[in-house]
Amino acid sequence: MPDTNPPIDAERTELLAGLAGVAAPDAATPAVVPVPETPPPPAPVKTPGPETKQDKPETKKDKPETKKDKPVAKAKKSKATKLSDSPWPSYADVPLRFGCPGRGGSASPEWEGRCLTKLTLPFPMETAWVEPDPHTRKMVPAVVKEIRVHREVLSSLGRVLGFILNDIYEGDIEALKEDGLHLFNGAYGYRGMVAGKLISMHAFGAAIDFAVEKMPADVIEAFRAEGWIWGGDFSTPEPGHFEATRGK
Ligand SMILES: [Zn+2]
Repeated sequence: MPDTNPPIDAERTELLAGLAGVAAPDAATPAVVPVPETPPPPAPVKTPGPETKQDKPETKKDKPETKKDKPVAKAKKSKATKLSDSPWPSYADVPLRFGCPGRGGSASPEWEGRCLTKLTLPFPMETAWVEPDPHTRKMVPAVVKEIRVHREVLSSLGRVLGFILNDIYEGDIEALKEDGLHLFNGAYGYRGMVAGKLISMHAFGAAIDFAVEKMPADVIEAFRAEGWIWGGDFSTPEPGHFEATRGK
């Protein structure tokens, strides 16, 4: 993309400097100065609750690999949004649309308060990791009933998840669970570099992870119909990941 931008104003400079490279590495934006990767702090052991998504451990819950024929064939054919019609920004425009969630290794409480909101999940999920139960102290997955997301993606993500439950699985939560879609693996979390991107869409509250190794095609299609892109298409595939961008 030729650099035909008008002179960069102070606000944009600040955003870009703070974000340090939202754009994918080859989306050359001269104003973006990569910051050294800040490794996320070690996964804290927290009490259960929906707000324990940051820096999740990678421990996936064992899930039965009883993959019978998919119960998902009845989804209405939703058409994937063409990228040109995508309601979501390119990586380069993400900070302009979603704001500046922090800089360096720290999230901004001001941004969190202004931009994040809670999405009540249409079906209960549970963490793909375990945490100590407050009563028994046993390590168990935590129930997740709501997640923090960017206000801009609230209604879209709510629609997709509702479509998954009601249209793809026709309200059958057990069938949804068989495909692992109840296993929550993170949404908002201020993180450092993941898979080559200097800052993750998770840092904007505009991404969600399911702990699945194989994402059902109908679910991918449902997200695409809302303009979200699927991590399974990344150069380092993340089959459980969706994010509200149009990509590069
Ligand atoms: Zn992700």
